[in-house]
Amino acid sequence: MKRKISSYFFYFILFFFCFHNISAQRKVQTTEEVKLFEASTSSSCGNSSDPYKKKYSRQSFYVPQKNDQVITLKITIHIFKPLNDSGKWQMNDNKVNGMPALKFLLDSITNGHQERYSAKRSSSYKVENFNSPYIHDSKIRYEITNVYFYPEPALYTTYSDFALFEHIEKVDKSRIEEGMPLVFNNSTGPGHLSSYKGASAIVTTISSFDPVFGRSHLLHEIGHAFGLGHTYINGTGGGSDWQNFNGACGSDDYLSDVFPNNNPACQHEREATTKPDNAPCFSCYESTPDTSNNLMGGQRYNRWMSPLQMGRRLRALHLNSNAGRNLRHFVKDMESDHKNIWTINENETWDFDIQVYKDILVKAGITLTIKCKTALAINGKIKLESGAKLIVDGGEITTWCKTGNWLGVETPVKKKSAKITESPIKLINGGTINKAKMQMPVGK
Ligand SMILES: [Zn+2]
Repeated sequence: MKRKISSYFFYFILFFFCFHNISAQRKVQTTEEVKLFEASTSSSCGNSSDPYKKKYSRQSFYVPQKNDQVITLKITIHIFKPLNDSGKWQMNDNKVNGMPALKFLLDSITNGHQERYSAKRSSSYKVENFNSPYIHDSKIRYEITNVYFYPEPALYTTYSDFALFEHIEKVDKSRIEEGMPLVFNNSTGPGHLSSYKGASAIVTTISSFDPVFGRSHLLHEIGHAFGLGHTYINGTGGGSDWQNFNGACGSDDYLSDVFPNNNPACQHEREATTKPDNAPCFSCYESTPDTSNNLMGGQRYNRWMSPLQMGRRLRALHLNSNAGRNLRHFVKDMESDHKNIWTINENETWDFDIQVYKDILVKAGITLTIKCKTALAINGKIKLESGAKLIVDGGEITTWCKTGNWLGVETPVKKKSAKITESPIKLINGGTINKAKMQMPVGK
């Protein structure tokens, strides 16, 4: 009995945390916002090309493949405390609120533990002909860069996200840029997605130590930083992937692998007013008793990510998506994938700002035009087959890594007897190639 009460209690806390404010995605500092991390805003970044609309902006494009490299998201922990070593996360407490407990909690969601691999879907409701495809490895892991402490009694209980971020920055500016800030204090407010200077951050209180709740809670909050909404619905609107989160039935971002169409439970909405229909799909949002173990649901053991949710997470590491919260800037530097590459089979114009993790191959006779910013990983290359062209039209090709440069553009080897022809690489309208290791013949 006792166990039952406590599990309800934790469910209540989780419900409270999620239900109240994640959706709000608190906007911090509305005026004179200075961006820490600039995405390219050149006029040629229109995000309106066909390749963008039909391919690169779609979460389905990024659904992880079996042989893809794993990408690491860096997270930096900031803990606000009272002046003395009391309250949450005490140095000398080996019990519920001490550092060993915190370490145990953080270990469970980092370094390829429970943040990377998805559980299989299970649900309390059955829908005929619905089998969400299952992918085990999401290809994203989290890594903690550091845990910093701030003995600041006023900030220990503040509800002002901005005050917390500003203090961290004042202490050491580099800490804000080191990894996605995950800030703990004891405001007792609900955990929520926040942002500082254009980048994602999470602010949360964990009221009672419970590793299962804590893990689910943190995975869920970080899920919001990737642009995922709830599988349940917020009374206040927003924050739900079911309908209100730019993902209405049938739209590009709709999670058709989470919400079964023609769900009988929501076709009787007149009888069950808590489950309105989402015509024409007739999918339901999840609410007790019809729930699943989805990462973004409200259950304690929520570790299932659908393929499209995984795709959206990976998209957030490529594009500056999720309302401009630049999560991709917190990705750990890595070597470009030279085996599983992107192949360009038809002429494409890239008028969007993208962070790339793989080499790019432009097939024979095809032209790739870069009008915005394309940033490759360490030693990444763009390979041009015979007759392929690369035109940098007012845009930029560079690296997104801080500790190494990309390789450059590889052009086909010419026979000695071949006549001198013009370079397949062209820079026009102020286009630039920066931070490449190789020297490249460039035409205008
Ligand atoms: Zn939430």
